[in-house]
Amino acid sequence: MADMKTKLIDWLRDAHAMEDHALKMPSAFAGRLEHYPELRQQVERHIDETRRQSGDVRACLERLGADTSTMKDFAARIGGMVQGASGVATNDEVMKGALASYAFEHTEIASYRIIAAAAKRVGDPATQQVCERILAEEQAMADWLGDYLPSLTTQFLQREETPGATA
Ligand code: MG
Ligand code: FE
Repeated sequence: MADMKTKLIDWLRDAHAMEDHALKMPSAFAGRLEHYPELRQQVERHIDETRRQSGDVRACLERLGADTSTMKDFAARIGGMVQGASGVATNDEVMKGALASYAFEHTEIASYRIIAAAAKRVGDPATQQVCERILAEEQAMADWLGDYLPSLTTQFLQREETPGATA
């Protein structure tokens, strides 16, 4: 049981690092979306949600008596599993960013499914409940992005065709 609780804490730390990463990556992305107001609004809304998620995960760790003073960053813990388009200047960075965001939401979905199941097994219903609520938010964002990708692609290609327009 002690080992299980240690695993739960480890995975919550990973999730916290993931949320902090999620605050940096899309913040840069949102700044490049002036021509895509619908997407920009959704990304900004999810950044607010992410900020709250990060605090909720931290509260779970504190409730479990975990030390939250030395949290490693996402890249260090996950080893750059999800590589965004960040830092790479391309003419289709909007599309690369949307692709990376869609992939990232699914990484979050997998993480919270795992942690919710672990919390259930350990007998920590409060953590389970938090993870299930965050999971629903990640799923909603992933679904929205998935539905939006075809329309984004069309808009992007149309801008490409328009003389003088930038992506
Ligand atoms: Mg999140
Ligand atoms: Fe998310």
